Amino acid sequence: MKIPVLYIVIPCYNEEEVLKSTTSAVKAKLTHLQSKGLVAKTSRIVLVNDGSKDKTWEIIKEINHSDPTFNGVKLSRNRGHQNALVAGLLYSKDRSDITISMDADLQDDIDAIDQFIKAFHEGYDIVYGTRSSRTTDTRFKRWTARSFYKFMHKMGVDVVYDHADYRLISKRALEEFAKYSEVNLFLRGIIPLIGFPSTTVSYVRNERQAGESKYPLKKMISFALDGITSFSVKPIRFVFSIGIALSVISVLFLVYVLVQYLTGHTVEGWSFIACSLWFIGGVQMMSIGLIGEYIGKIYSETKARPRYAVEEIVE
Ligand code: UDP
Ligand code: MG
Repeated sequence: MKIPVLYIVIPCYNEEEVLKSTTSAVKAKLTHLQSKGLVAKTSRIVLVNDGSKDKTWEIIKEINHSDPTFNGVKLSRNRGHQNALVAGLLYSKDRSDITISMDADLQDDIDAIDQFIKAFHEGYDIVYGTRSSRTTDTRFKRWTARSFYKFMHKMGVDVVYDHADYRLISKRALEEFAKYSEVNLFLRGIIPLIGFPSTTVSYVRNERQAGESKYPLKKMISFALDGITSFSVKPIRFVFSIGIALSVISVLFLVYVLVQYLTGHTVEGWSFIACSLWFIGGVQMMSIGLIGEYIGKIYSETKARPRYAVEEIVE
């Protein structure tokens, strides 16, 4: 079997503090794999600059200048983690036999890469890195992440539990992935849809090496919402059933109101009706909002705008 060419894709957004240490650690890992003959000498590490506002791109160019193992892809502006990842993966698609995606902060244990490669040689096309413990995450982050996975499952989205975007993808799986042209990207939901042989490797998640999380609560919520509404129509069905239930209840109300009227108690019943009006109004607003969410999706999908623009490449 031919020795595979490995491309490690790392999206970077304002990561100037951690970039140097990350790249030297990943480089050491790559050299180790190459010396054992597990990956080809032409393997590369691709750093995708996702419109950083700090010196990230300057550092990437510097790193590339001193070591051509590192390639840099600069997006024209910040497009978010998922799009930056796709940019890196599609850049690597025709150049490599396997890609591994990981975060710039070294929270994901790079020693798991050995097992990723081993699994690939055993015939797996997709290897998911899963966190065996989350003790280094804040309690809030752990709780929100847990609830997110549970909720996704309830909503019928097939996601790998405790798996972030740390994974190995073979060339043929990546080629299948490239056919998914959706704009509202949720990689963790799409990759399992590809369906080639896959396995998981668990690792201990570390503390962020330096800098702060680029996923504040606001981004996490929008990420979760994207994940659900891009993959599941269950919320729409749920709203539909609430609608039916409310219609049945309102018929009962009508009977109640009629009885009150005939027995001359209308004035007392007024506050009750006023309350229900508010309630029904609220439910309607909620439903319209939810449907709007899906229409918004359709809107952005039909526009089919490009997911990112590559401004510069250093290789
Ligand atoms: N990231 C990115 N674009 C963004 C936000 C984050 O490319 O708009 C990158 C970031 O540089 C890091 C990865 O995505 O490599 C994960 O981000 P982070 O570690 O901040 O997320 P957390 O681990 O806290 O969920
Ligand atoms: Mg992180």
